[in-house]
Amino acid sequence: MEKQGNIRIASENMMPIIKKWLYSDKDIFLREIVANAQDAITKHKKLVDLGEAAAEENYRVTVTTDEKAGTLTVEDNGIGMTEEEVEKYITQIAFSGAADFVDKYEKAGGDGIIGHFGLGFYSAYMVSDLIEIETKSYREGTAGVHWASDGNSTYTIGDCDRTARGTKIIMHIAEDEKEFLKASKIRELLHKYCSFMPYEIYLNPTGKDDKPVNTTHPLYLKQPKDCTDEEYKQFYRETFSDFNDPLFWIHLNMEYPFRLKGILYFPKVKKQVELERGKVKLYCNQVFIADNIKEVIPEFLMLLNGVIDCPDIPLNVSRSFLQNDKQVQKIAKHITKKVADKLIELYKNDRERYENSWADLATFVKFGCLKDEEFYKRVEDIIIYKNLAGEYRPVSSFYGEEVSEEDAKNGKEPQPVYYVSDEKKQVQYIKMFKDAGLDAIYCDTYIDPHFLSFLEYKNPTRVRFLRIDADVAGALKEDGEEDADLKAIFEKVLEGKHVTVKTEKLKDVNVSAVINVSEFARRLSEMHTFYGMGESPADMTLVVNMANSAVQALKGAPEDAQKHAAMQIYYLALMNYRPLTPDEVTDFVAINTMLIENYLKK
Ligand code: ADP
Repeated sequence: MEKQGNIRIASENMMPIIKKWLYSDKDIFLREIVANAQDAITKHKKLVDLGEAAAEENYRVTVTTDEKAGTLTVEDNGIGMTEEEVEKYITQIAFSGAADFVDKYEKAGGDGIIGHFGLGFYSAYMVSDLIEIETKSYREGTAGVHWASDGNSTYTIGDCDRTARGTKIIMHIAEDEKEFLKASKIRELLHKYCSFMPYEIYLNPTGKDDKPVNTTHPLYLKQPKDCTDEEYKQFYRETFSDFNDPLFWIHLNMEYPFRLKGILYFPKVKKQVELERGKVKLYCNQVFIADNIKEVIPEFLMLLNGVIDCPDIPLNVSRSFLQNDKQVQKIAKHITKKVADKLIELYKNDRERYENSWADLATFVKFGCLKDEEFYKRVEDIIIYKNLAGEYRPVSSFYGEEVSEEDAKNGKEPQPVYYVSDEKKQVQYIKMFKDAGLDAIYCDTYIDPHFLSFLEYKNPTRVRFLRIDADVAGALKEDGEEDADLKAIFEKVLEGKHVTVKTEKLKDVNVSAVINVSEFARRLSEMHTFYGMGESPADMTLVVNMANSAVQALKGAPEDAQKHAAMQIYYLALMNYRPLTPDEVTDFVAINTMLIENYLKK
């Protein structure tokens, strides 16, 4: 006989509130219902293990969509419920659990709880007008139970003729939520939330060649020693739909002091200029919670792809609570340490692979150092740069002698380490360096400007960095007085161009002049551009090479020829620094044509 009852808590007002908050995250109802079904199976299995229930060979969860009937059904062959249990767990606990959730959610200020965990059975009302339950307990001699409610204050409960152990949740999908009747939509949600749940889940099975939608024993749960490289790669491809193989991976497997399992993959970086955002999926006992939870996973690790299963993270608490939770902080630290350890191990044991992967790794490692002091301390010695000879070496091996604190106080700076930021544009400087037997490092990832400043800041007595075109390194020139006449010639033609003129005796006599821009001024101007404060090109210095024969010839030449030749020397130097502007090109071509003509007439 059907009975009617009133739900004791004031639930009428609950649903609008829940709907409003979870509007973009309604999907989670399916996870909650399927997770309940899985739990019911786990409970039954425990009873079997205790000898309190008959064994079951074929545990499964079946999800069925029926567009005609307008229902979405989730059925399990788990523990089932008696009438009293339905009254207790559904009518009372599920409803009061939802009320509890609303309360917590309100306190957390709306978008507080990760993955909107903790709403449970009641969340199905986000998409249903009516929910029916048919269930039959594992206990012998109990009858099937039918329960139905529209989620407001009344429900009916009574016997039904169900004989199979387990529970069927029949959701009558609301008019404006019809997408949840589409098998494709449900498949997508099962993939997202239920991929690694422990018992097989079937969607609309036909009875022939049915395949579960989930992997009941995901690779990350295995012991690392039992996993092959091919298995790791396959798991990566399936989980992240990336057809490129990952560079390498870290298998996290820890029981104490907290439980943590998972695999983090280093992906190949597709584009150098762009920090490719990865995906670190967080699970709790094989149930998907959310992607990229920054409270748990350090921000820079989000450049990786991975799955992390951590049953010890408190989930139905607010995000700000998580952020300050000691346990969660320990978990984040542990993950960071493992990542650093893996990199160090690779550096030590397989240097070649490390170097070959560096182009993909560099951005990640540098970003990690900028973001996380502890990570920097760990990996400090394995940050490598390529020098002009094409060899990778730890950056600290390029540093010169340490400046004593005393000297530093008196303004003494450490030896500069020169760097190339653009191999093509700086080719003239590179040649001069190589000819003089000087070295420099290649810094061409977009994060390098920040990273070099960071290294200077961390090692103020050890290093400062100068771009290869920032000044003329001591070894490239000979000491001597400036040539005032020569200087005057150039100053005159460059009047109004904000160019300082200097004369030096460069060892490379083939170079007529080079442009220098001071490191400080250039960084300042780059910063302006970076922060969108407009372009403010740094002032340039033209270093004229007194040792160059063309430059020497200038001095005795007639004034007109002198002017044009000086301008041309300036343009040649400029072209080695940056592309000429359209006006400069026009001027350059005009002077050049004239010079050719005069040369031929001679
Ligand atoms: P929670 O799962 O967090 O306890 P729910 O609101 O999801 O909260 O469910 C309330 C209770 O209803 C569960 O604890 C469980 O006892 C019972 N229940 C829900 N779904 C099932 C099911 N498929 N089989 C057996 N019991 C269930």
